Amino acid sequence: MLAEKTGVFPGKKFGKWTVIEFSYSAATEEGEVLPHLRVACECGTSKILNVKVLRSGEMESCGCSV
Ligand SMILES: [Zn+2]
Repeated sequence: MLAEKTGVFPGKKFGKWTVIEFSYSAATEEGEVLPHLRVACECGTSKILNVKVLRSGEMESCGCSV
């Protein structure tokens, strides 16, 4: 169901992030409701990011490799 909605699925990579699972849907600061995903950085740090941030590439890693 996640892949149908967003084109994002577990195992998909965005920069250093790998999608682990769907977490929840929530409104962003702009009031847009987006799916939020648990992702894991190559270094092992996991974090929850929304689909828009992942797609935009503005956060390519947890900050471990700048
Ligand atoms: Zn990292």
